[in-house]
Amino acid sequence: MTTPATPVRRLLDRFLCRGTVEAVDDLTPRMRRIRITGESVRGLAWVPGQHVRLQVGDLFPNFGNALRTYSVWDYAGDGRLDLCILDHPEGGPGARWARDVTVGQEVAFTRPEGRLVIHDDAPYQLFVGDETAAVAFGAMLRALPASARVFGLLEANGPDDRLPLPRELTWVYRDAEPLTTALEALDLPAEPGVAYIAGEARTCQAVRRHLVRDRGWPRKTAIVKPFWAPGKRGMD
Ligand SMILES: Cc1cc2nc3c(=O)[nH]c(=O)nc-3n(C[C@H](O)[C@H](O)[C@H](O)COP(=O)(O)OP(=O)(O)OC[C@H]3O[C@@H](n4cnc5c(N)ncnc54)[C@H](O)[C@@H]3O)c2cc1C
Repeated sequence: MTTPATPVRRLLDRFLCRGTVEAVDDLTPRMRRIRITGESVRGLAWVPGQHVRLQVGDLFPNFGNALRTYSVWDYAGDGRLDLCILDHPEGGPGARWARDVTVGQEVAFTRPEGRLVIHDDAPYQLFVGDETAAVAFGAMLRALPASARVFGLLEANGPDDRLPLPRELTWVYRDAEPLTTALEALDLPAEPGVAYIAGEARTCQAVRRHLVRDRGWPRKTAIVKPFWAPGKRGMD
């Protein structure tokens, strides 16, 4: 079946920004940073922590494999947007796209959106997640004033998977200690702060449950965004 490319492209251009890959480098052995530049990358409304949906495959005939969601690691309004994509063992369309992407390639993505953003009226900020969550957290941490009180726990396979972050968070390694055990032992102030919880879906639920049930945090102080789940394709 042939698709009427021009009208479809015109329709898509109303929703998608287009840019060119300017640079590709590895921030860790498994985390690839992709820098996208271009005219339609300028002047986007972006709040640190928000994500875009990136086109990683053909829209037809398999729409389910066409888009994947990625946090914006960094953005400059003059037309530079950085994404970081993890190469995970099951390697779906998103991970494969990041493995194969080359400088000069044209890319399409939606405008930034999302509610995983800083609430700076809280007495302190708690970040809990995994390597994928660290991308959004990096952007959020950079946006915080130096005076902000920050706590954090991040789960990774090992020291090589630590993304360089602007503030010191504690990394825990999967084989050594479950994230939830480390969280139970984390020394936090007695009063609740605001928690940003992202990464693997079940772990996100367990982290929220601990804060609400065991530490007595009001439910609304835990902002949860599951990024992926075993056996599920794309989460947004
Ligand atoms: C708001 C939001 C922001 C996100 N930001 C980022 C980001 O900045 N960087 C990033 O890398 N990802 C991020 N993700 C996850 C991303 O959207 C994809 O889900 C991920 O890249 C996997 O896509 P895929 O096509 O490779 O695999 P899929 O086809 O989506 O999944 C195939 C299978 O791979 C396995 N799998 C998926 N992810 C992982 C993982 N991390 N570890 C182990 N196994 C996995 C699961 O079993 C899954 O069923 C974000 C998701 C959301 C919802």
